[in-house]
Amino acid sequence: MYSENRKTEAKNLLPGATGDWELVIGLEVHAQVISKAKLFSGSPADFGGAPNDHVSFVDAAMPGMLPVINKKCVEQAIRTGLGLKAKINCKSVFDRKNYFYPDLPQGYQISQFKQPIVGEGQVQLDLEDGSSVTIGIERLHLEQDAGKSLHDKADGLSHVDLNRSGVALMEIVSYPDIRSIEEAKAYVSKLRSILRYLGTCDGNMDQGSMRADVNVSVRRPGAPFGTRCEIKNVNSIRFMGQAIAYEAARQIDILEDGGEILQETRLFDPNHGETRSMRSKEEAHDYRYFPDPDLPPLEFEQSWVDEIAATLPELPDEKKARFIKELGLSAYDADVLVSDREAADYYEAVADGVEAKAAANWVINEVFGRMNKMGLSFADIPVPPQANTAILRMVAVSEISGKIAKELFDIIWNEGGDPVKIVDERGLKQVSDTGALEKIIDELIAANPDKAAEVKQKPKMIGWFVGQVMQASKGKANPQMVNQILRKKLI
Ligand code: ADP
Ligand code: MG
Repeated sequence: MYSENRKTEAKNLLPGATGDWELVIGLEVHAQVISKAKLFSGSPADFGGAPNDHVSFVDAAMPGMLPVINKKCVEQAIRTGLGLKAKINCKSVFDRKNYFYPDLPQGYQISQFKQPIVGEGQVQLDLEDGSSVTIGIERLHLEQDAGKSLHDKADGLSHVDLNRSGVALMEIVSYPDIRSIEEAKAYVSKLRSILRYLGTCDGNMDQGSMRADVNVSVRRPGAPFGTRCEIKNVNSIRFMGQAIAYEAARQIDILEDGGEILQETRLFDPNHGETRSMRSKEEAHDYRYFPDPDLPPLEFEQSWVDEIAATLPELPDEKKARFIKELGLSAYDADVLVSDREAADYYEAVADGVEAKAAANWVINEVFGRMNKMGLSFADIPVPPQANTAILRMVAVSEISGKIAKELFDIIWNEGGDPVKIVDERGLKQVSDTGALEKIIDELIAANPDKAAEVKQKPKMIGWFVGQVMQASKGKANPQMVNQILRKKLI
């Protein structure tokens, strides 16, 4: 944890009219827990459904209903804490956070305040320039989500949908260690990636299952922290970047004009690309937190934590380190491959039995390239990893050329089938037969005597002939052999 001591690198300083400024950011991320039921009731926690379909008497706060903790949600919070290398508190307390809102029928949210289930942890960011920073996590606590007010269903009427009411959220609070927009984006991406690896949150920001409150302040380099503003409920990484940029510029303008930043809660309006004040510190809620009398303190044994720890998957940082150290991949390739657990699994299946670097290039360029172009997810890829392995193996032993490999991939993507059989049946094998190649080459030389003469002066011109041979052989000529024969005949 660096917090106030962490300096900003020169390239991340924001130039103002009167000198440079540092950007200071701290994020509170709300992540919806993957669980069948809600945090304190048995209603389904699924996204969607008709309004008020997933609502029990507990979620609707009927008098006399009592909350009962869902063990699965507790396990998910512990799992997440372990993934964030954080301290797990075997005793924590649920508090009531009191406020009035139409979509909060209890009149309070059950949350954790002074004693959260998870304490300090960390998230490592690998930045584009190859450097790494570690961002401190202050805490992770469990809390209930609220319902949703709908104001656009009927004229003059508002509706309330309580499907989300009581769904378990993890609030993950960072220290104000973040110093640039790039870092803020990298932090949210990394956190999302870790949660997905762990299977504790699906990270779908567009469905609201992950959203961030973004705290922003500016200061002169090395000065004490400035007053922050909190931008509520940002639900995309791109919007977060825009919101921070707008907010930093706004605060710098005010300070350079001799003004003062008022601590307030703001909202980002994506249509206008600006943040607007929602409420000032004076209007801030007094939540009057107190321990929920309906719930005893949450206590469990360290042995349960150890059991959960033993089931943790290999996480992105460790996977990346292994890909670099054991497979010899570049940091860049490893980053691309580990950002998503399914991507990493697919890659490892492809690389089983062929050269690791060749497999990485192939998967990143051919498979991911096409997936991204078509907007597909891994579940929709029609080519199983093993088909890629078979293609790469044929390339490695010069049985097919790189060009044919791509065509073959196309065929399998569209029609399916066994790559080895397809190569046999459609005669796609690379021509390494010297006699056959010499015949094509002799004909080309005879037809282009002027070009042949030119090659003697400018040996680089040989490329033209290689191209012609490849074309004449429909991409099947072995390029190394073509080169050799051409050199022998022309130079
Ligand atoms: P509160 O309880 O009022 O929300 P916290 O201390 O919990 O305040 O901080 C909330 C978030 O604000 C944390 O993520 C923290 O990192 C961030 N934060 C605190 N001070 C600053 C600051 N000066 N600039 C930017 N972010 C800050
Ligand atoms: Mg807070």
